[in-house]
Amino acid sequence: MKSWVDIYIGLGSNLDQPLQHVEQAFQSLASHKHFQNAKLSGIYQSKPVGPQDQPDFINAVAHAQTQLGPHDVLDCLQSIENVHGRVRLRHWGERSLDLDLLMYGQAQIRTPRLTVPHSHMLQRSFVLYPLADLVPNLCFDNGLNLGEHLNKLEFDLKLLKKGI
Ligand code: ATP
Ligand code: MG
Ligand code: MG
Repeated sequence: MKSWVDIYIGLGSNLDQPLQHVEQAFQSLASHKHFQNAKLSGIYQSKPVGPQDQPDFINAVAHAQTQLGPHDVLDCLQSIENVHGRVRLRHWGERSLDLDLLMYGQAQIRTPRLTVPHSHMLQRSFVLYPLADLVPNLCFDNGLNLGEHLNKLEFDLKLLKKGI
C-alpha cells in the first residue's frame, strides 16, 4: 500500500475573473480522485512580480495528500491549467491559471520538468503568507522556520477571503 504524501500547491491567476479561476481550480483539486483532504489558505491579491504592465494577481496555497509520484502530480496540475485555458505568453506574464508544486513531502527533486521545493518560493510573499495560513510552524531544510522567512518579507498583500 502506497503511503499518502503531503503536498502544497501555489495557485495564481490575473486574467479573466481571476478569483473564479483560483476557486474553481481549488474545487478541481478537492474533487480529484488522486487528492484527499484538500484545504485552501486565505485568498490574497498581490502585485505582479514580472512585467508591471499586467493586472494584479489573485493567489492562494492549497494543501492535499496524494499517492501519486511528483511528476504525476505535475501532470495533473498542468492538465487543470489547460482546462483553464493557460497560454504561455511571456515569462512571469499574465495567465488565467498557474499551479506550482511548492513541496512534495520532504522530497528534493531536480529534473528537467520539476524542481521541488519550488525554486522561488522562499522569496515570494504571495506564497509564504498563504502557506502560513495552512502550516504556521513549518520548518525548512535550511534550518529556518516559516516565521523566520516571513520576517524577511514585507506583507504586501491584500487578504480577500479567509481560508476553507
Ligand atoms: P515560476 O516557476 O517562477 O513561478 P511560472 O509558474 O510562470 O514561473 P510556468 O510557465 O508555469 O512557470 O512553468 C514553466 C515550467 O516550470 C513548467 O513547464 C514545469 O515543467 C516547470 N517546473 C519546474 N518546477 C516546477 C514546479 N515545482 N511546479 C510547477 N512547474 C514546475
Ligand atoms: Mg509560478
Ligand atoms: Mg507555473
